[in-house]
Amino acid sequence: MALTGMQIYKQLPRTNCKKCGFPTCMAFAMQVAAKQKAISDCPDISEEATVALSEQSSPPMKLVKIGSGDTVFETGQETVMYRHEEKFHRKCGLAVKLAANLSIAELESGIDEINSRNFTRVGKEIKVEFCAIDLDGCSNPAERAQTAADKSRLPIILSGEDPLPMSTAAAAIKDKRPLIYRATAANIDDFIKIAADNKLPLAVSAGTLEELADFTLKAKDAGVEDMLLSFKGGNIGEAVRFSTHVRRSALINKFRPFGYPIISEFESDSEEIETVLIAAAAAKYSGIVLIKGREAWQVTPNLTIIQDIYTDPQVPNTVEAKLYEIGSPNENSPVMYTTNFSLTYFSVAGEVERSKIPSYICVVETEGLGVLNSWAGDKISVEKILKALKDQKVAEKVKHRKLIIPGLLPVFKAEIEDLSEWKEVIIGPETAKEIPGFLNRIWGK
Ligand code: SF4
Repeated sequence: MALTGMQIYKQLPRTNCKKCGFPTCMAFAMQVAAKQKAISDCPDISEEATVALSEQSSPPMKLVKIGSGDTVFETGQETVMYRHEEKFHRKCGLAVKLAANLSIAELESGIDEINSRNFTRVGKEIKVEFCAIDLDGCSNPAERAQTAADKSRLPIILSGEDPLPMSTAAAAIKDKRPLIYRATAANIDDFIKIAADNKLPLAVSAGTLEELADFTLKAKDAGVEDMLLSFKGGNIGEAVRFSTHVRRSALINKFRPFGYPIISEFESDSEEIETVLIAAAAAKYSGIVLIKGREAWQVTPNLTIIQDIYTDPQVPNTVEAKLYEIGSPNENSPVMYTTNFSLTYFSVAGEVERSKIPSYICVVETEGLGVLNSWAGDKISVEKILKALKDQKVAEKVKHRKLIIPGLLPVFKAEIEDLSEWKEVIIGPETAKEIPGFLNRIWGK
C-alpha cells in the first residue's frame, strides 16, 4: 500500500533545512507520497529510514536525466496510464539522428540544422531535444562525438551496437552525460560496462520481455542506475503492445525491472511513414523518439503532437485578457475581440500578423474557452465584451467606432450596437485563416 505523506514525514530528519529544494520536510514528504520525488533526494535521511521507506516510496518509474549543465533533458517518473487521469509529467523528446557515413563537415552542418529546429506555437517554444549520432562503421568515433559535444546545443545520444566505437565515443564526452543507445542481447555485457564505467544512462533492448527484465536487473546490479527501455522495429502494433505492456507493468503492477521510460525508433525506408510512426510512438508512452529526417516538415508534425499530448489537461490554456497590439496600430487601425483560449488567440494573432494590417485585439476573459464553447458555457456575453473594451480603454486608442466580432458568434451584433458606443459592428470570418483576406478586403487600401 502506498505510504501517506505523514508516514514519510515521520521518518525524515524534520529540520526543514531546505536542502531538498522544498521549504519544509512536510512539503517534501507530500511530493514523495505523490511519487514526484525519491526519498534519496533528502541528503540527510538516515540509513534506517532509507531502508524502511525506499522500496515503498520510490516512484514506480525512474526519472532519467540525460545531458549536463544547462542542457539536461528529464524523462520518466510518469504516474498514470491515461492523460485524463491526471497529466503526463514529462514531455516526449524528439531526437534527430545523423548517419555514421557523414563527413565531419556534413556532420557539423547536420548539427546546425538540428540546432535550428525550434518553433513557436501557441506562444510556447517547441523544439528538437536531442542530437543523436550514429557510430557503427565509422573510423573516428571520438572525433564525431567531440564534434557533436562542441557544436550541439542539445543533449547527445550516442547510437550504435558495436562496443568498440561506443566505448571510445562515450569516454571522449562522458562529461556531457550522453545516452548510450543501445544495449542488445549481442552486446549487453560490454554496453553495461561502458555505461557503468562512465556513469552514463543506458538504453536497453532485448528479444523478449522476459529477457528485457533480466537485462535491466543485470545492469542495475552492475551499477547502472539510469536506463531506458528500447523499442526498435517497423511495426506500430508491436510498438504499442510493447510500450503498453511495460508501462502497465511499471505503474500498475509495480514491476521494478520495467520502471524506466521508453525510447522508440522505427526502421522504415519511407520518410513519410517514419514520420507517422514516430507520431504514434510519441502519443503512446515513449519518453524519447528517434527520427532520421531533419527537415521541418518531418519534425514539426511530431513536435505539434507532443505539445498537444503533454499539455496539462487540468490547467486552462489561456493568455492574459488584455489589449494586444499586432504590428504598430494607430488611431485608424481595426479593432476586434476574441477569447482568452490561447489556441484561439494565437491563431487570430498569427493571421492578423500575416494580413500585414496592424490591428488591436481585445482579449475577453472566458476561462480558457474558445468562441463557441464560451458561448455554450455561458462564459461570454455582451456585458463581458463591453466591460473588456472599457477596462482595456480601447476607445481611447482609435477614433473610429467599428468593432470586428468573431464570425462564429454573430448574435451579439445588434446588442453591442444598441448598448455601446461601438455603433458599427462588423461580423468577421468564421475561421482564423480567412482573416488576412477579410482584413485586406474591408480595411486594406
Ligand atoms: S532536505 Fe531533508 S531534512 Fe532538509 S527540508 Fe528536505 S526533507 Fe527536510
